Amino acid sequence: MKIASVWAREILDSRGNPTIEVEVATENTLASAAAPSGESTGKHEAIELRDGGHRYLGKGVQRAVNNVNAYIAPAIIGMDVRQQEAVDTKMKELDGTRDKSRMGANAMVATSMAVLRAAAGSEGKMLHEHLGGSNLPHAMFNVINGGKHAGNGLAVQEFMIIPDDELFSERLRMASEIYHILGKQLVEKHGPAARNVGDEGGYAPQIGNTYQALDALVAAIEEAGYPHKCALAIDAAASSFFDSKSRVYKIDGKELKESELVDYYADLAKSYPLKSIEDPFQEEGFGAFAALKKELPDVQIVGDDLVVTNVARLKQAISEDSIGALLLKLNQIGTVTEAMQAVQMCRQNNLNVVVSHRSGETEDCFIADFSVGINAGQIKTGAPARGERTSKYNQLLRIEERMRVL
Ligand code: PGA
Ligand code: ZN
Repeated sequence: MKIASVWAREILDSRGNPTIEVEVATENTLASAAAPSGESTGKHEAIELRDGGHRYLGKGVQRAVNNVNAYIAPAIIGMDVRQQEAVDTKMKELDGTRDKSRMGANAMVATSMAVLRAAAGSEGKMLHEHLGGSNLPHAMFNVINGGKHAGNGLAVQEFMIIPDDELFSERLRMASEIYHILGKQLVEKHGPAARNVGDEGGYAPQIGNTYQALDALVAAIEEAGYPHKCALAIDAAASSFFDSKSRVYKIDGKELKESELVDYYADLAKSYPLKSIEDPFQEEGFGAFAALKKELPDVQIVGDDLVVTNVARLKQAISEDSIGALLLKLNQIGTVTEAMQAVQMCRQNNLNVVVSHRSGETEDCFIADFSVGINAGQIKTGAPARGERTSKYNQLLRIEERMRVL
């Protein structure tokens, strides 16, 4: 089935900033997809093209929209929608840069995702069916926000819960119950403002210490009645509290050297049911990641800013044994094909894959379908609250139901 038309427009993301949505039509289907946008972005990510100037305080994406409508569309119209790699290669040729700064990774990823959706649609299939996956992921629900996603003193960016049950729908129900009990307990302890939320829908209480936040999670899980069915995870996003001049990490009112931060995480892992730590060190710290992985063999060490879904950086992480899992964000690399190559490399090297949203999201639930389609096993897409987060979880409910019926 051939691509008949491609059209891009500017819409708003969950932070109220512009982002790009692309529609791709074939003779028998119309599909769309929207680019998400990070706040604690990695230095090595592909470039998100923004207009600058006064409009939308410089954050407009009209140039990216124009790149799709004026350059990408005429180049890919007429191509077979199922030839994802050929379409993505064509876009990369048009862009011609290493970091996708000419066309814009936002323009390219929205187009690439819409093409994949259109390929599924043209066969009358859901996206996960088209990709051939059937495994509903375990979700890490981000219920306390810190770092760049909140206005509190928490250095660590994300405090997550991982409920365990056979069914995704049950895991989601447990997460929702724990989330509401956590909100109630935080209000009791810190006053009504503690229920205000951060960018990913988790609470943003005015606490400034990692241990306090983890204690709050444990207390909520206990009251909810799931102490043996729910583990914890964090995304430290450590580049955001690393001082590159003095080379120390500023956390919990302390300044820790790299080796002291290893001990700090080791103590966390001893004190809590912590199963996964993302970006424990700054984004060039391949060696430090490896040291922690060695120290904590039972904890999943996840590479986000370190690897940025880029096979060259993934190769380095593998050769230095830095990580046990890749955080997969399509817009970090800019095309579905390159994201798939990263997944492939993970499979060949026994690494886990955690499909991830961005802190700036849209109602697009693409990553829900994608996580099932590639049998990722894990997803993180924020709190079990706020529309741009629940759109993904709700889609996973639909997929699970469909699998039970069919
Ligand atoms: P970001 O945060 O989307 O702001 O980069 C998500 C993450 O760090 O995992
Ligand atoms: Zn991260």
